[in-house]
Amino acid sequence: STQPTSTERSWVPLREELRGVEPYGAPQLDVPVQLNVNENPYAPSAAVVEDVAASVARAATTLNRYPDREFTELREGLAAYLGREAGVVVDPAQVWAANGSNEVMLQLLQAFGGPGRTAISFAPTYSMYPEYARDAMTGWVAGRRHEDFSFDLDEARRLVREHRPSVVLLPSPNNPTGTALPHDVIGTLCELVGDDGVVVIDEAYAEFRRAGTPSALELLATADGQGHRNLVVTRTMSKAFALAGARLGYLAAAPELCDALRVVRLPYHLSAVTQATALAALRHADELLGKVEELRAERDRTVAWLEEQGLEVAPSDANFVLFGRFADRQAVWQRLLDDGVLIRVTGPEGWLRVSIGTAAEMQAFRSALTGALAHPT
Ligand code: PMP
Repeated sequence: STQPTSTERSWVPLREELRGVEPYGAPQLDVPVQLNVNENPYAPSAAVVEDVAASVARAATTLNRYPDREFTELREGLAAYLGREAGVVVDPAQVWAANGSNEVMLQLLQAFGGPGRTAISFAPTYSMYPEYARDAMTGWVAGRRHEDFSFDLDEARRLVREHRPSVVLLPSPNNPTGTALPHDVIGTLCELVGDDGVVVIDEAYAEFRRAGTPSALELLATADGQGHRNLVVTRTMSKAFALAGARLGYLAAAPELCDALRVVRLPYHLSAVTQATALAALRHADELLGKVEELRAERDRTVAWLEEQGLEVAPSDANFVLFGRFADRQAVWQRLLDDGVLIRVTGPEGWLRVSIGTAAEMQAFRSALTGALAHPT
């Protein structure tokens, strides 16, 4: 439209670099089938709802007090969960948490980025990363992945040598392509960056990885001197734990790095309600991960079906699939929306991304896309 956005109005005393910038966010449309922001389609079960409600009620009796600033019990719960999930030993002192992994990563940039420093990633990559860098007044450089979305280590070597980044941000599995990073890439990056910076592997979707795909948690520094002390692995309860509404993200890293984040966090940033909710969900991890199992199977079926339609499909270790290519992807997106199916226009030109929903939702997606393919606009 030609209407100026509020950030363009002259009287708003915005930072110069924020002028005219649109706030981030996919459209939140009220349509029957929402497959656009990689949410978990399964609402919490009655058992989870009951446990969350009872835990929040208990927390409510002391809401006149500030919450545990160090979220000790939650750190213990998250460390135990990570240990079980990835088959590694994680100490509570290696865990940090905040309101969504969005906030975790902003804190990482606040602590390890800053004026005169540079963060790098490799496109296509998660579109929030440059915003974290901007908000933490950190330089931003994006290299490229290979055409098939695999990681280009030669490009990475060049970029690290040229820019000496203090933060490397890489999702694995990658959003929006679903591509996981092999261990040797992560290890090489950690060595290239050294003590000049941290390598952040964003495992928001890790629980959806296919059998045989490893977690970067295996590469964390251990007491016996193995692993990489500059490695940070972030996770979230938004996806596998079906808890996007609660806002709980976390990371595992060397205790010294976790300790450094205490300098930039706001006091009591994790509310007592958030801590109680997350702890309740962790008690139901086994049940919730059972649903993840179903979603992984549905993801593999979706990939196979898209391939049968003669489309290009990026192999996925996540709860979404990138597919294409379309001469007019916007038109295909609109056709699906007209049928009540909301997916996402993201990734390189020509590609679309669909989040994995329930079996019924994926059926709706398949029939809508079949219609769109039969009658190209
Ligand atoms: N990292 C990646 C790669 C994501 O796709 C997302 C959510 N879309 C996030 C981090 C942030 O998730 P949250 O803040 O809900 O933990």
